[in-house]
Amino acid sequence: MANTKVPFLDLKTQYQNIRPEIDEAIARVLDNCQFVLGSEVAAFEKEFATYSGAAECIALNSGTSALHLALLAAGVGPGDEVITVPFTFVASVAAILYAGARPVLVDIHPHTFTMNPSDIEAAITPRTKAILPVHLYGHPSDMDPILEVARRHGLTVIEDAAQAHGARYKECPVGNLGDIACFSFYPTKNLGAYGEGGAVTTGNAEYARTIRMLRDWGQDRKYHHLLRGFNYRMEGVQGAILRVKLRHLDQWTELRRAAASEYNRLLADCGVELPREMPWARHVYHIYTLRTKDRDALQAALQAEGIQTAVHYALPVHLQPAYADLGYSRGAFPQSEKAAEEVLSLPLYPEITDAQVQKVAQALTSLAAAQ
Ligand SMILES: *Cc1c(COP(=O)(O)O)cnc(C)c1O
Repeated sequence: MANTKVPFLDLKTQYQNIRPEIDEAIARVLDNCQFVLGSEVAAFEKEFATYSGAAECIALNSGTSALHLALLAAGVGPGDEVITVPFTFVASVAAILYAGARPVLVDIHPHTFTMNPSDIEAAITPRTKAILPVHLYGHPSDMDPILEVARRHGLTVIEDAAQAHGARYKECPVGNLGDIACFSFYPTKNLGAYGEGGAVTTGNAEYARTIRMLRDWGQDRKYHHLLRGFNYRMEGVQGAILRVKLRHLDQWTELRRAAASEYNRLLADCGVELPREMPWARHVYHIYTLRTKDRDALQAALQAEGIQTAVHYALPVHLQPAYADLGYSRGAFPQSEKAAEEVLSLPLYPEITDAQVQKVAQALTSLAAAQ
């Protein structure tokens, strides 16, 4: 037990647990030779739309493509501004630039690590077209005040739900809270393909029609290109795999929540700041992230005990070299910058064992006491 290593993630155990179902699904696609889009992808779209409470789901080749096409469908282009947060995976901001628009950043709320709704109003200009909140770590953004500002100013709301499959805001599933929502099925996400994948969900039939065209070269019928599109299609194998995994998702989410609640119990008095679940939220713990002073030392000490942790994210987007020309400098977003220095993500996945959770909690408790 003392020598058990605890990996940050374990995709292998999950595959072993569902191997017969997955292998059968892959074989089905190889047999029918529908390698791109096809019946498995179409069936997955129906099932994932239902899961997210949305009328439409369009399956794509990545979460980044989902963000890109959601922005284009919303009519975002050169000269427009889109409001999002700097404390996110870089894709949320990059997609706005792909659409030719300018990312305008607002800070996060320190308790949820998501967009602070009270900062939005001041960031709105006549060029603002959309607001793009990110449900970071699997915790939903505080959507009601975001939607209220958006409605008042006539702005489209695009959810970045790449980390939040199955999360809920006031009992409503993410994916149908704003006008359009974007999901990633990158292998490490709560619902992960065995390769790249993503999807858009929306209740807006016009957006859905546009995104369906844009993902497949802008065709409204074969070899007739109504729009300048992209090759953003989902592969058949990924659709078939995602259908299998979607059937397990709620159970996996319960296991994540159970592990998170066990961490919360074991770490309650150890002097680190635990992740919060707001009263209006159902957190799906894509990532279990705490805050601690002297984070780097703690991470190194845990690593020395065989416990793999991660930092999401050490540098907010506005301080990344590639995005220096957005025009923000250090100090622009104090909550994001402080979070970047303090956050530490612990191992958490549906298959994590009680012994592993205990080992992490024990190590952390004794290291934090010594700090
Ligand atoms: C993973 C992720 C994306 C991008 O998804 P890909 O499928 O990797 O392109 C976008 N936004 C957030 C918040 C993510 O975590």
